[in-house]
Amino acid sequence: MNLLVTSRVRTPVVDQHATWIAVNPVQGCPKRCRYCFLHERGQAGVAPEVLADPARTVEMLLASPFYAPTRPVALYTWTDVMALPVSREHLRSTLLELDQRGVRNPLVLITKCHVPDDLIADLVEARHRGIPLVVYLSLSGLDDSVERGVRHAPLWETFPRLAAAGIPIVHYWRPGTPASSTSEVMERVLDHAAAHAACTMAAGLKVESAALTRLADMWPDLATTEGVTTAEGVYPRAFWEFIHRTWQRHPGHPLFHTNSCALAHVLGRPDTFGVFGGTTCRLRNNCPVPQRSRCHDADAVRARPDEAYVRAALRRRGLGDVPFTLATDTRDVTVHAAVATATAAALTHDLRTRVHVDRDQADGYWNSGTAGALPLIIG
Ligand code: SF4
Repeated sequence: MNLLVTSRVRTPVVDQHATWIAVNPVQGCPKRCRYCFLHERGQAGVAPEVLADPARTVEMLLASPFYAPTRPVALYTWTDVMALPVSREHLRSTLLELDQRGVRNPLVLITKCHVPDDLIADLVEARHRGIPLVVYLSLSGLDDSVERGVRHAPLWETFPRLAAAGIPIVHYWRPGTPASSTSEVMERVLDHAAAHAACTMAAGLKVESAALTRLADMWPDLATTEGVTTAEGVYPRAFWEFIHRTWQRHPGHPLFHTNSCALAHVLGRPDTFGVFGGTTCRLRNNCPVPQRSRCHDADAVRARPDEAYVRAALRRRGLGDVPFTLATDTRDVTVHAAVATATAAALTHDLRTRVHVDRDQADGYWNSGTAGALPLIIG
């Protein structure tokens, strides 16, 4: 455990991330995964700290300018909520609080840990009460030397246990490293996911400048490759090629490169994040036909926003005077100004269309597809 608690950087309890509203009333993770962004914030290998009780957490969520009733909410992204009893207890009470306040936003929980049976029962109960709760199980075939503190055997077993309880699973496959990008490892991971999860969501390694030296210990090519710190994510070539061909091995198992699409598929909703019809939708996401039909049908009846509508949305996000361009052949909006990822993501939700912005270099949020960054493949 890291005892230098004074060096811990805290994130707002409620914030907008690239896809979802992130709610972090408990911060700090006892695990020490080598690729984790929490290291640079003094929040890896530490005891979780409770910053807001469940009632206050829900109050803060509902009062947030990012909140709207249908937007996805990811709970506890600055810890692994399943790791310790204090966090699980917080989750339990927060689910009750959300239910009592009538909140029915899609909820995302992300974990690499065993989920105890009594907590699975609570998740099932929340779903019965109408909270569309989805569990992201993070499984990438990495071993204990990379995912330090993670007990992998119980993680693998959590897939069938959640599936048997009827809880939708998104298999979260990120990051791939050279060591985990062998055919043997990737096939084993994919076979397990295809057997139990509703889909796979694959992503690359985020490389912040401050983390580069640390991450290069694990993957030396990072230190000698241009552009790793500005990429949306970094991928070993073998991993990149495999995740774009999973349909050959498991034709019925969807694989997405965009969280919004993975969630749309699991929730049975059309895309509302401006992905439909773009390159990632057409060429990269292995999206099943019924989901494509859902997105197509919704797109066909959706009006293109006009300039006044876009201007009003910008004004609501504090961007009243910034210049923008509304594409003539798509619904894309390009804002000609540096905009934080949180605001760009909120605007994307507001307008239900792709919003392009210049990256705000002062933004503490890492590069993302929402902020216009592109993937980088090594090898
Ligand atoms: S059709 Fe395209 S936009 Fe819709 S969920 Fe599938 S990949 Fe995403």
